[in-house]
Amino acid sequence: SLSIGIVGLPNVGKSTLFNALTKSANALAANYPFATIEPNVGEVGVPDSRLDALAKLYDSARVLPARVKFVDIAGLVRGASEGQGRGNQFLANIRETDAICQVIRVFRDPDVTHVDGDVSPSRDIETINTELILADLQTLEKVLPRLTKEAKTNKDRRPVLEAAEAASKLLDSGTTLHAGAKAAGIDMALLRELHLLTAKPFLYVFNLDADELTDEDLRKSLADLVAPSDAVFLDAKIESELVELPDDEALELLQSIGQEESGFDQLARVGFETLGLQTYLTAGPKEARAWTIRKGATAPEAAGVIHTDFQRGFIKAEVVSFDDLMEAGTMAAARSAGKVRIEGKDYVMQDGDVVEFRFNV
Ligand code: GDP
Repeated sequence: SLSIGIVGLPNVGKSTLFNALTKSANALAANYPFATIEPNVGEVGVPDSRLDALAKLYDSARVLPARVKFVDIAGLVRGASEGQGRGNQFLANIRETDAICQVIRVFRDPDVTHVDGDVSPSRDIETINTELILADLQTLEKVLPRLTKEAKTNKDRRPVLEAAEAASKLLDSGTTLHAGAKAAGIDMALLRELHLLTAKPFLYVFNLDADELTDEDLRKSLADLVAPSDAVFLDAKIESELVELPDDEALELLQSIGQEESGFDQLARVGFETLGLQTYLTAGPKEARAWTIRKGATAPEAAGVIHTDFQRGFIKAEVVSFDDLMEAGTMAAARSAGKVRIEGKDYVMQDGDVVEFRFNV
């Protein structure tokens, strides 16, 4: 499943958030199978109201949401790339994740000390970015001699060497690879083998005081520190209270602080968006299920997420959009209304497609 590493300076609210996340997953466990893999890894179902509606329609025995794995990566401090704190062990943990989510302290509480003295979101973002950039520079420094040697005897390796050199230069200028590689003409696919940290997409969780959540000027100034579409605003303390409450009371609490959506729902939504992902749905009496695919995936690729045999033996897909299905009321009604399409192997999947695949095995 999709995995997101949670990073941030000490005392910004990472554990509070992570514990709430795993608790919410545990609360869901009554309905959804869930596993805590390791103490610092939690897998969370992505809330999706469409899935619940489908399950009702099909009277499905189980509901299986798309899942996101969160890895709590403690211990990033200034100097981590030089081995301060848990240093390199920390860095090894994030290499494996699909995206990096930085938690940034905005809440003021004077009883919670800040490692750098005062609360400064822009400085903290800089600090973490710098550590990740330094870590990538170290990785590149280590491999460049080998790549140089390989490029001398094998011309296929030359583009890799050139990409690595260009990446070094970009990082030296203080730009992350995710932000700058494209503009610099660096083909990151060539460097995939290096698992560079700053090549991953970034999400930013701003941990605010509840009364700051409705402060539009503050939100705008924070969002402008990053790519605004990658920003999530929440109060980790409130999130940890929300997960303890039944749905109706949770909604009341959210509304009382002027929010329509919990921080986790935001995080899941923004995470999918940032990573270029979408879901399609399958449903039957056994289960209603959401499957994660990248935007632009074709029908056979989507089938492959269920099983590689489905992709290989793909014949066609029967597709109806979630909205059309709900409007028609039943699959049979959607069919007679001509809303159920037969799509071939070139069909590009749309978010919320409800699908049945036909395949040879
Ligand atoms: P971590 O070191 O980043 O994992 O931070 P923790 O989650 O352990 O939080 C550090 C301290 O800040 C704890 O005492 C938390 O209760 C407190 N804290 C975390 N989030 C918030 C918040 O949103 N508001 C306030 N006021 N305190 C918070």
